[in-house]
Amino acid sequence: MSPYRGRFAPSPTGPLHFGSLVAAMASYLDAKAHHGSWLVRIEDVDFDRNIAGADHAILQSLQRCGMHWDEEVAWQSQRTALYQTALDQLGDHVFACSCSRKEIADSRLRAGLSDSQIYPGTCRTGIVNNKAARAYRLRVPDGVAACITFEDRLLGIQTQDLSSAVGDFVLKRADGFWAYQLAVVVDDAAQGITDVVRGADLLDSSARQIYLLALLGYPTPRYLHVPVVTNQAGEKLSKQTGALAFDRGDNDLLQEALIPAAQFLGLSFSTMPRSLPEFWSGATDLWASKLAIR
Ligand code: GLU
Repeated sequence: MSPYRGRFAPSPTGPLHFGSLVAAMASYLDAKAHHGSWLVRIEDVDFDRNIAGADHAILQSLQRCGMHWDEEVAWQSQRTALYQTALDQLGDHVFACSCSRKEIADSRLRAGLSDSQIYPGTCRTGIVNNKAARAYRLRVPDGVAACITFEDRLLGIQTQDLSSAVGDFVLKRADGFWAYQLAVVVDDAAQGITDVVRGADLLDSSARQIYLLALLGYPTPRYLHVPVVTNQAGEKLSKQTGALAFDRGDNDLLQEALIPAAQFLGLSFSTMPRSLPEFWSGATDLWASKLAIR
């Protein structure tokens, strides 16, 4: 098997909060427990959501936590030529689409389908009425070809029928930005990622990514999705739900962030670590035994 390569891939939409620390920690501990490499990639292709300076703030917080990456940090905004090459390589699996969200909803209603954004297939055989292409979508066939089954290392066997659950999904968006699903797959493959460890909010994306990877001729990494941290209202912690930065520059990250994040991940220390090196070595051992990594 190839040597372990993991990654943390934050979107720079704000500073790291407790929920993103949990995801970062899980990927870091898994890489360390496997004696592998841990990479950081800034997923900044959605220019409308990027917050200026958030990328460097995230990197600084990771360093203050003692999480050091093993290779140069990659910024997706500098890698867009790779996404175009992948789109070209997908050839006839991709089609241009002129539909707006409203047109998709209307056309589903006309066909007696439920009011969802699963693509009704309008532009699959070409854009009609000389309308301009807005987005580029991946053609998802019906049947077994796009019914994806994989084993999550924590959650077990997962199955998703892409045609009924997702439909023809967007690879390049109407605003001209590259879609997360394409960019993440191209970079995971280009960076030789063997293990994707991230929050369970992305579990639903894995089947799309496995399908795309296969079309591009890349191997499937292993997946592990950790529970998502929620607030008292049961919402995922995020900038939208008002999550605060855990790093205030001079606070005690070990006590206030790292130990609580490790506890959230189900790691219980028999003796409380008093320094960052003690924390990381104890947490790595606990993670390795929890997941039976030798
Ligand atoms: N950039 C994504 C996010 O911040 C994570 C991507 C991934 O881990 O696959 O939600």
